[in-house]
Amino acid sequence: MPADHQPAACGCGHRRGHHLVSAEASYSPLGWLGVVLGISMKPIKVRFRCRRCDVVFDESTDPQVLDSHA
Ligand SMILES: [Zn+2]
Repeated sequence: MPADHQPAACGCGHRRGHHLVSAEASYSPLGWLGVVLGISMKPIKVRFRCRRCDVVFDESTDPQVLDSHA
């Protein structure tokens, strides 16, 4: 069953944008250095985690999504 065409959701049915879903930015090693130095760096990946079931159900490397979490 291909999941590619389904909007990703966790077991509770929460999707991106839900108030119980946190976006976690992942940075490259250089990006982490920027974070430590207090420089705003663009993440290389954003993961979406449900705070209710603590499951990462989706991730994105879409530049528009990354920009909104930079
Ligand atoms: Zn959930």
